[in-house]
Amino acid sequence: MSQARRSVSLLGATGNIGVQTLDVLRVERERFELVSVAGGDQLSELAAIVREFDVKNVAVKSERHRDELVDLLDGGVEVLVGDEGLTELSSSADVVVNAVLGFAGLPVTLAALAAGKRLALANKESLIAAAPLVARVRDAKGAELLPIDSEHCAIHQCLASAPAHPGYPDVKRLLLTASGGPFRGWNDEQLKGASKEDALRHPTWSMGQKITVDSSTLMNKGLEVLEASALFGIEVDRVDVVVHPQSIVHSMVEYVDGSVLAQLSRPDMRLPIAYCLGLPERLAHHFGELDFTRALELTFEPADLVAFPAVPLAYEAARRGGAAPAWLSAANEVAVEAFLADRINWFDVIPVVASAMDHYVADPLDSLSALYENDALARQWAHDSLAR
Ligand code: NAD
Ligand code: MG
Repeated sequence: MSQARRSVSLLGATGNIGVQTLDVLRVERERFELVSVAGGDQLSELAAIVREFDVKNVAVKSERHRDELVDLLDGGVEVLVGDEGLTELSSSADVVVNAVLGFAGLPVTLAALAAGKRLALANKESLIAAAPLVARVRDAKGAELLPIDSEHCAIHQCLASAPAHPGYPDVKRLLLTASGGPFRGWNDEQLKGASKEDALRHPTWSMGQKITVDSSTLMNKGLEVLEASALFGIEVDRVDVVVHPQSIVHSMVEYVDGSVLAQLSRPDMRLPIAYCLGLPERLAHHFGELDFTRALELTFEPADLVAFPAVPLAYEAARRGGAAPAWLSAANEVAVEAFLADRINWFDVIPVVASAMDHYVADPLDSLSALYENDALARQWAHDSLAR
Protein backbone atom coordinates (compact mmCIF):
# COMPACT_ATOMS: atom_id res chain seq x y z
CA MET A 1 0.00 0.00 0.00
CA SER A 2 1.50 3.32 -1.02
CA GLN A 3 -0.62 5.61 1.21
CA ALA A 4 0.72 6.86 4.53
CA ARG A 5 0.14 4.50 7.40
CA ARG A 6 -2.83 5.24 9.64
CA SER A 7 -1.72 5.96 13.20
CA VAL A 8 -3.43 4.07 16.03
CA SER A 9 -3.73 4.82 19.74
CA LEU A 10 -4.66 1.68 21.72
CA LEU A 11 -5.93 2.44 25.20
CA GLY A 12 -6.49 -0.65 27.34
CA ALA A 13 -3.74 -2.41 25.36
CA THR A 14 -3.10 -5.24 27.83
CA GLY A 15 -6.71 -6.46 28.10
CA ASN A 16 -8.63 -9.00 26.07
CA ILE A 17 -9.68 -6.56 23.33
CA GLY A 18 -6.27 -4.84 23.51
CA VAL A 19 -4.39 -8.07 22.86
CA GLN A 20 -6.69 -8.98 19.96
CA THR A 21 -6.18 -5.51 18.48
CA LEU A 22 -2.41 -6.08 18.64
CA ASP A 23 -2.97 -9.32 16.72
CA VAL A 24 -4.64 -7.35 13.91
CA LEU A 25 -1.89 -4.70 13.95
CA ARG A 26 0.80 -7.43 13.70
CA VAL A 27 -0.62 -8.70 10.41
CA GLU A 28 -1.28 -5.18 9.08
CA ARG A 29 2.02 -3.43 9.82
CA GLU A 30 2.07 -1.70 6.44
CA ARG A 31 -1.30 -0.07 6.97
CA PHE A 32 -1.16 0.88 10.64
CA GLU A 33 1.37 2.33 13.03
CA LEU A 34 0.79 1.96 16.77
CA VAL A 35 1.85 5.31 18.26
CA SER A 36 0.43 5.29 21.79
CA VAL A 37 -0.85 2.81 24.35
CA ALA A 38 -2.35 2.87 27.84
CA GLY A 39 -2.90 0.15 30.41
CA GLY A 40 -3.89 -0.52 34.00
CA ASP A 41 -2.07 -2.90 36.33
CA GLN A 42 -0.31 -5.29 33.92
CA LEU A 43 2.90 -3.27 33.60
CA SER A 44 5.30 -5.93 32.35
CA GLU A 45 2.84 -6.76 29.54
CA LEU A 46 2.57 -3.05 28.76
CA ALA A 47 6.36 -2.70 28.65
CA ALA A 48 6.57 -5.68 26.27
CA ILE A 49 4.06 -4.00 23.91
CA VAL A 50 6.00 -0.72 24.02
CA ARG A 51 9.19 -2.57 23.05
CA GLU A 52 7.63 -4.74 20.35
CA PHE A 53 5.89 -1.86 18.57
CA ASP A 54 8.47 0.80 19.45
CA VAL A 55 5.73 3.00 20.95
CA LYS A 56 6.78 6.47 22.14
CA ASN A 57 3.77 7.57 24.21
CA VAL A 58 2.24 5.65 27.10
CA ALA A 59 -0.35 6.40 29.79
CA VAL A 60 -0.80 4.60 33.10
CA LYS A 61 -3.13 4.95 36.08
CA SER A 62 -0.93 6.57 38.73
CA GLU A 63 2.52 7.98 39.62
CA ARG A 64 3.37 4.63 41.20
CA HIS A 65 2.50 2.82 37.94
CA ARG A 66 4.63 5.32 36.04
CA ASP A 67 7.68 4.73 38.24
CA GLU A 68 7.34 0.96 37.90
CA LEU A 69 6.92 1.16 34.13
CA VAL A 70 9.87 3.52 33.67
CA ASP A 71 12.06 0.96 35.51
CA LEU A 72 10.99 -1.69 32.98
CA LEU A 73 11.80 0.47 29.92
CA ASP A 74 15.07 1.68 28.41
CA GLY A 75 14.08 5.36 28.10
CA GLY A 76 12.96 7.46 25.15
CA VAL A 77 9.31 6.92 26.07
CA GLU A 78 6.98 9.57 27.44
CA VAL A 79 4.82 8.18 30.27
CA LEU A 80 1.68 10.16 31.17
CA VAL A 81 -0.60 9.58 34.15
CA GLY A 82 -4.31 9.29 34.94
CA ASP A 83 -7.32 10.76 33.13
CA GLU A 84 -5.14 13.54 31.74
CA GLY A 85 -2.83 10.98 30.18
CA LEU A 86 -5.77 9.11 28.62
CA THR A 87 -7.21 12.39 27.35
CA GLU A 88 -3.94 13.46 25.77
CA LEU A 89 -3.36 10.11 24.04
CA SER A 90 -6.94 10.19 22.72
CA SER A 91 -6.02 12.99 20.34
CA SER A 92 -2.65 11.55 19.36
CA ALA A 93 -3.63 9.30 16.42
CA ASP A 94 -5.96 8.90 13.42
CA VAL A 95 -7.79 6.01 15.09
CA VAL A 96 -8.32 5.70 18.84
CA VAL A 97 -9.26 2.22 20.11
CA ASN A 98 -11.04 2.47 23.45
CA ALA A 99 -10.43 -0.94 25.04
CA VAL A 100 -10.31 0.32 28.62
CA LEU A 101 -12.61 -1.46 31.07
CA GLY A 102 -15.67 0.25 32.54
CA PHE A 103 -16.37 3.88 33.44
CA ALA A 104 -12.60 4.52 33.54
CA GLY A 105 -12.77 4.66 29.72
CA LEU A 106 -14.90 7.83 29.74
CA PRO A 107 -12.06 10.34 29.08
CA VAL A 108 -11.07 8.37 25.98
CA THR A 109 -14.53 8.40 24.40
CA LEU A 110 -15.12 12.10 25.01
CA ALA A 111 -11.62 13.31 24.08
CA ALA A 112 -11.25 11.22 20.89
CA LEU A 113 -14.53 12.52 19.46
CA ALA A 114 -13.92 16.12 20.58
CA ALA A 115 -10.53 15.97 18.83
CA GLY A 116 -12.23 14.85 15.59
CA LYS A 117 -10.75 11.34 15.56
CA ARG A 118 -12.13 7.99 14.57
CA LEU A 119 -13.15 6.30 17.81
CA ALA A 120 -13.18 2.49 17.56
CA LEU A 121 -15.25 1.79 20.64
CA ALA A 122 -15.14 -1.44 22.65
CA ASN A 123 -15.78 0.39 25.94
CA LYS A 124 -19.59 0.41 25.91
CA GLU A 125 -19.84 1.62 29.53
CA SER A 126 -18.65 5.15 28.65
CA LEU A 127 -21.16 5.60 25.84
CA ILE A 128 -24.03 4.22 27.93
CA ALA A 129 -23.26 6.43 30.93
CA ALA A 130 -22.52 9.59 28.97
CA ALA A 131 -24.86 9.31 25.97
CA PRO A 132 -26.17 12.93 26.14
CA LEU A 133 -22.60 14.26 26.49
CA VAL A 134 -21.24 12.02 23.74
CA ALA A 135 -23.99 13.29 21.42
CA ARG A 136 -22.58 16.82 21.79
CA VAL A 137 -19.02 15.95 20.74
CA ARG A 138 -19.98 13.44 18.07
CA ASP A 139 -20.51 16.20 15.48
CA ALA A 140 -16.97 17.56 15.89
CA LYS A 141 -15.29 17.91 12.50
CA GLY A 142 -13.74 14.58 11.49
CA ALA A 143 -15.21 12.69 14.46
CA GLU A 144 -16.39 9.18 13.71
CA LEU A 145 -17.82 6.61 16.14
CA LEU A 146 -17.45 2.97 15.06
CA PRO A 147 -18.51 0.08 17.32
CA ILE A 148 -16.15 -2.83 18.02
CA ASP A 149 -18.82 -4.57 20.07
CA SER A 150 -19.71 -7.46 17.74
CA GLU A 151 -23.50 -6.94 17.78
CA HIS A 152 -23.22 -3.24 17.04
CA CYS A 153 -20.57 -3.78 14.41
CA ALA A 154 -22.99 -6.23 12.77
CA ILE A 155 -25.79 -3.66 12.89
CA HIS A 156 -23.46 -0.99 11.49
CA GLN A 157 -22.90 -3.28 8.51
CA CYS A 158 -26.59 -4.21 8.14
CA LEU A 159 -27.58 -0.52 8.17
CA ALA A 160 -25.37 0.22 5.18
CA SER A 161 -28.34 -0.15 2.84
CA ALA A 162 -30.60 2.11 4.90
CA PRO A 163 -30.98 5.73 3.79
CA ALA A 164 -29.15 7.72 6.45
CA HIS A 165 -32.15 9.72 7.65
CA PRO A 166 -32.00 10.53 11.36
CA GLY A 167 -33.74 7.81 13.36
CA TYR A 168 -33.74 5.37 10.40
CA PRO A 169 -37.46 5.47 9.48
CA ASP A 170 -37.00 2.47 7.12
CA VAL A 171 -35.87 0.31 10.01
CA LYS A 172 -38.57 -1.54 11.91
CA ARG A 173 -36.24 -2.78 14.63
CA LEU A 174 -32.75 -3.84 15.56
CA LEU A 175 -32.41 -7.46 16.69
CA LEU A 176 -29.50 -7.92 19.08
CA THR A 177 -28.43 -11.53 19.33
CA ALA A 178 -27.34 -13.03 22.66
CA SER A 179 -25.65 -16.38 23.20
CA GLY A 180 -27.74 -16.75 26.35
CA GLY A 181 -24.57 -17.22 28.40
CA PRO A 182 -23.57 -20.23 30.52
CA PHE A 183 -26.89 -20.30 32.41
CA ARG A 184 -29.28 -20.47 29.46
CA GLY A 185 -32.14 -22.80 30.40
CA TRP A 186 -31.20 -22.94 34.13
CA ASN A 187 -34.08 -22.72 36.60
CA ASP A 188 -34.16 -20.57 39.76
CA GLU A 189 -32.95 -23.40 41.98
CA GLN A 190 -29.92 -23.99 39.74
CA LEU A 191 -29.22 -20.27 39.39
CA LYS A 192 -29.14 -19.91 43.19
CA GLY A 193 -26.23 -22.35 43.24
CA ALA A 194 -24.32 -20.77 40.34
CA SER A 195 -20.62 -20.42 41.18
CA LYS A 196 -17.98 -17.98 39.98
CA GLU A 197 -16.39 -20.76 37.98
CA ASP A 198 -19.74 -21.46 36.26
CA ALA A 199 -20.25 -17.76 35.49
CA LEU A 200 -16.78 -17.40 34.00
CA ARG A 201 -17.27 -20.33 31.61
CA HIS A 202 -18.77 -18.57 28.58
CA PRO A 203 -20.05 -21.00 25.93
CA THR A 204 -18.86 -19.15 22.80
CA TRP A 205 -16.59 -16.14 23.58
CA SER A 206 -13.35 -15.77 25.51
CA MET A 207 -13.40 -12.27 27.07
CA GLY A 208 -12.31 -10.23 30.09
CA GLN A 209 -13.83 -11.26 33.45
CA LYS A 210 -16.24 -8.34 33.88
CA ILE A 211 -17.97 -8.74 30.53
CA THR A 212 -18.02 -12.53 30.99
CA VAL A 213 -19.96 -12.09 34.23
CA ASP A 214 -22.21 -9.53 32.49
CA SER A 215 -22.92 -12.14 29.84
CA SER A 216 -23.93 -14.67 32.50
CA THR A 217 -26.49 -12.28 34.04
CA LEU A 218 -27.53 -10.95 30.58
CA MET A 219 -26.67 -7.46 31.90
CA ASN A 220 -24.27 -7.34 28.95
CA LYS A 221 -27.29 -7.59 26.63
CA GLY A 222 -29.16 -4.98 28.68
CA LEU A 223 -26.18 -2.63 28.37
CA GLU A 224 -26.01 -3.41 24.66
CA VAL A 225 -29.65 -2.35 24.19
CA LEU A 226 -28.69 1.04 25.63
CA GLU A 227 -25.50 1.08 23.56
CA ALA A 228 -27.44 0.38 20.34
CA SER A 229 -29.95 3.11 21.05
CA ALA A 230 -27.20 5.68 21.72
CA LEU A 231 -25.09 4.63 18.75
CA PHE A 232 -27.78 4.56 16.09
CA GLY A 233 -30.25 7.10 17.48
CA ILE A 234 -33.03 4.49 17.59
CA GLU A 235 -35.32 4.40 20.65
CA VAL A 236 -35.12 1.21 22.75
CA ASP A 237 -38.69 0.22 21.84
CA ARG A 238 -37.24 -0.60 18.41
CA VAL A 239 -34.40 -2.69 19.86
CA ASP A 240 -35.14 -6.35 20.67
CA VAL A 241 -33.06 -9.19 22.07
CA VAL A 242 -33.03 -12.67 20.50
CA VAL A 243 -31.15 -15.64 21.93
CA HIS A 244 -28.94 -17.34 19.36
CA PRO A 245 -26.73 -19.90 21.15
CA GLN A 246 -24.23 -20.44 18.31
CA SER A 247 -22.99 -16.79 18.22
CA ILE A 248 -22.65 -16.90 14.44
CA VAL A 249 -25.31 -14.30 13.57
CA HIS A 250 -23.93 -11.26 15.37
CA SER A 251 -27.13 -9.21 15.09
CA MET A 252 -29.81 -8.26 12.58
CA VAL A 253 -31.77 -5.32 11.22
CA GLU A 254 -35.41 -5.77 10.29
CA TYR A 255 -36.70 -3.26 7.74
CA VAL A 256 -40.30 -2.04 7.47
CA ASP A 257 -40.88 -4.27 4.42
CA GLY A 258 -40.12 -7.35 6.53
CA SER A 259 -36.60 -7.98 5.17
CA VAL A 260 -34.12 -9.02 7.83
CA LEU A 261 -30.41 -8.41 7.19
CA ALA A 262 -27.82 -10.22 9.27
CA GLN A 263 -24.03 -10.35 9.57
CA LEU A 264 -22.41 -13.74 10.15
CA SER A 265 -18.96 -15.00 11.10
CA ARG A 266 -17.34 -17.31 13.60
CA PRO A 267 -17.14 -15.53 16.97
CA ASP A 268 -13.78 -13.74 16.71
CA MET A 269 -13.43 -10.14 17.92
CA ARG A 270 -10.52 -9.55 15.57
CA LEU A 271 -13.07 -9.26 12.75
CA PRO A 272 -14.98 -6.25 14.17
CA ILE A 273 -11.67 -4.74 15.33
CA ALA A 274 -10.23 -4.98 11.80
CA TYR A 275 -13.48 -3.57 10.37
CA CYS A 276 -13.24 -0.48 12.60
CA LEU A 277 -9.57 0.04 11.82
CA GLY A 278 -9.84 -0.45 8.06
CA LEU A 279 -13.12 1.20 7.02
CA PRO A 280 -13.90 2.18 4.27
CA GLU A 281 -11.57 -0.61 3.16
CA ARG A 282 -12.25 -4.18 4.18
CA LEU A 283 -9.03 -5.88 5.21
CA ALA A 284 -8.45 -9.34 3.71
CA HIS A 285 -7.99 -11.84 6.54
CA HIS A 286 -9.33 -15.15 7.83
CA PHE A 287 -10.55 -14.03 11.26
CA GLY A 288 -14.05 -15.39 11.76
CA GLU A 289 -14.23 -17.12 8.39
CA LEU A 290 -17.10 -19.63 8.20
CA ASP A 291 -16.82 -23.10 6.71
CA PHE A 292 -19.97 -23.79 4.67
CA THR A 293 -18.70 -27.18 3.49
CA ARG A 294 -19.86 -28.52 6.87
CA ALA A 295 -23.35 -28.57 8.36
CA LEU A 296 -24.05 -25.35 10.22
CA GLU A 297 -27.03 -25.05 12.51
CA LEU A 298 -28.41 -21.63 13.45
CA THR A 299 -31.20 -21.46 16.03
CA PHE A 300 -33.09 -18.58 17.62
CA GLU A 301 -35.29 -18.41 20.71
CA PRO A 302 -36.76 -15.68 22.94
CA ALA A 303 -34.79 -14.54 25.99
CA ASP A 304 -36.05 -15.60 29.43
CA LEU A 305 -36.71 -12.17 30.94
CA VAL A 306 -38.03 -13.60 34.20
CA ALA A 307 -34.91 -15.61 35.03
CA PHE A 308 -32.72 -12.75 33.74
CA PRO A 309 -34.21 -9.47 35.04
CA ALA A 310 -31.15 -7.44 33.97
CA VAL A 311 -32.66 -6.97 30.50
CA PRO A 312 -35.96 -5.41 31.67
CA LEU A 313 -33.95 -3.32 34.16
CA ALA A 314 -31.96 -1.85 31.25
CA TYR A 315 -35.11 -1.02 29.25
CA GLU A 316 -36.48 0.67 32.36
CA ALA A 317 -33.26 2.74 32.69
CA ALA A 318 -33.60 3.76 29.03
CA ARG A 319 -37.18 4.90 29.56
CA ARG A 320 -36.17 6.96 32.60
CA GLY A 321 -33.39 8.50 30.50
CA GLY A 322 -30.97 11.18 31.75
CA ALA A 323 -28.51 9.67 34.19
CA ALA A 324 -30.45 6.41 34.76
CA PRO A 325 -28.27 4.38 32.32
CA ALA A 326 -25.16 5.76 34.09
CA TRP A 327 -26.57 4.52 37.40
CA LEU A 328 -27.33 1.09 35.97
CA SER A 329 -23.83 0.68 34.61
CA ALA A 330 -22.07 2.07 37.71
CA ALA A 331 -24.09 -0.07 40.14
CA ASN A 332 -23.43 -3.08 37.95
CA GLU A 333 -19.67 -2.44 38.04
CA VAL A 334 -19.79 -2.41 41.84
CA ALA A 335 -21.91 -5.58 42.02
CA VAL A 336 -19.72 -7.49 39.54
CA GLU A 337 -16.53 -6.48 41.36
CA ALA A 338 -18.07 -7.73 44.62
CA PHE A 339 -19.03 -11.02 42.95
CA LEU A 340 -15.54 -11.47 41.48
CA ALA A 341 -14.08 -10.77 44.95
CA ASP A 342 -16.32 -13.55 46.41
CA ARG A 343 -18.27 -11.03 48.48
CA ILE A 344 -21.70 -11.87 47.01
CA ASN A 345 -23.33 -14.79 45.21
CA TRP A 346 -24.13 -14.74 41.52
CA PHE A 347 -27.85 -14.65 42.34
CA ASP A 348 -27.40 -11.36 44.24
CA VAL A 349 -25.60 -9.40 41.51
CA ILE A 350 -28.67 -8.01 39.73
CA PRO A 351 -30.66 -7.39 42.96
CA VAL A 352 -27.78 -5.13 44.10
CA VAL A 353 -28.13 -3.15 40.86
CA ALA A 354 -31.93 -3.01 41.17
CA SER A 355 -31.68 -1.83 44.75
CA ALA A 356 -29.29 1.00 43.80
CA MET A 357 -31.63 2.00 40.94
CA ASP A 358 -34.46 2.45 43.46
CA HIS A 359 -32.62 5.55 44.73
CA TYR A 360 -32.20 7.21 41.34
CA VAL A 361 -33.59 10.73 41.22
CA ALA A 362 -34.28 12.07 37.70
CA ASP A 363 -31.34 14.05 36.36
CA PRO A 364 -31.11 15.24 32.72
CA LEU A 365 -27.31 14.80 32.74
CA ASP A 366 -26.31 18.10 31.17
CA SER A 367 -22.69 18.33 32.32
CA LEU A 368 -19.63 16.23 32.97
CA SER A 369 -19.66 17.18 36.65
CA ALA A 370 -23.27 15.94 36.89
CA LEU A 371 -22.16 12.64 35.39
CA TYR A 372 -19.36 12.18 37.93
CA GLU A 373 -21.80 13.03 40.75
CA ASN A 374 -24.35 10.52 39.50
CA ASP A 375 -21.70 7.85 39.02
CA ALA A 376 -20.47 8.34 42.60
CA LEU A 377 -24.01 8.27 44.03
CA ALA A 378 -24.95 5.08 42.19
CA ARG A 379 -21.77 3.39 43.44
CA GLN A 380 -22.50 4.54 46.97
CA TRP A 381 -26.02 3.05 46.89
CA ALA A 382 -24.68 -0.17 45.43
CA HIS A 383 -22.06 -0.41 48.20
CA ASP A 384 -24.79 0.35 50.69
CA SER A 385 -26.84 -2.54 49.37
CA LEU A 386 -23.78 -4.85 49.54
CA ALA A 387 -23.33 -4.01 53.20
CA ARG A 388 -26.87 -5.13 53.97
P1 NAD B 1 -10.08 -6.55 30.18
O1 NAD B 1 -10.36 -6.49 31.64
O2 NAD B 1 -9.50 -7.78 29.62
O3 NAD B 1 -9.13 -5.33 29.77
C1 NAD B 1 -9.30 -4.02 30.24
C2 NAD B 1 -8.12 -3.16 29.89
O4 NAD B 1 -8.30 -1.85 30.46
C3 NAD B 1 -6.78 -3.66 30.46
O5 NAD B 1 -5.75 -3.36 29.55
C4 NAD B 1 -6.61 -2.82 31.73
O6 NAD B 1 -5.26 -2.72 32.12
C5 NAD B 1 -7.14 -1.50 31.20
N1 NAD B 1 -7.51 -0.53 32.21
C6 NAD B 1 -8.35 -0.68 33.26
N2 NAD B 1 -8.44 0.47 33.95
C7 NAD B 1 -7.64 1.37 33.32
C8 NAD B 1 -7.31 2.73 33.53
N3 NAD B 1 -7.82 3.42 34.57
N4 NAD B 1 -6.45 3.35 32.67
C9 NAD B 1 -5.93 2.66 31.63
N5 NAD B 1 -6.22 1.37 31.36
C10 NAD B 1 -7.05 0.74 32.21
O7 NAD B 1 -11.47 -6.20 29.46
P2 NAD B 1 -11.93 -6.54 27.97
O8 NAD B 1 -12.69 -7.80 27.98
O9 NAD B 1 -10.80 -6.35 27.03
O10 NAD B 1 -13.00 -5.39 27.74
C11 NAD B 1 -12.62 -4.03 27.50
C12 NAD B 1 -13.86 -3.27 27.08
O11 NAD B 1 -14.34 -3.82 25.84
C13 NAD B 1 -15.03 -3.38 28.06
O12 NAD B 1 -15.71 -2.16 28.09
C14 NAD B 1 -15.91 -4.46 27.46
O13 NAD B 1 -17.27 -4.30 27.77
C15 NAD B 1 -15.69 -4.21 25.97
N6 NAD B 1 -15.93 -5.39 25.13
C16 NAD B 1 -15.16 -6.49 25.26
C17 NAD B 1 -15.39 -7.59 24.46
C18 NAD B 1 -14.52 -8.82 24.55
O14 NAD B 1 -14.68 -9.74 23.75
N7 NAD B 1 -13.59 -8.88 25.48
C19 NAD B 1 -16.43 -7.58 23.52
C20 NAD B 1 -17.21 -6.43 23.41
C21 NAD B 1 -16.95 -5.33 24.21
MG1 MG C 1 -21.28 -7.66 22.47
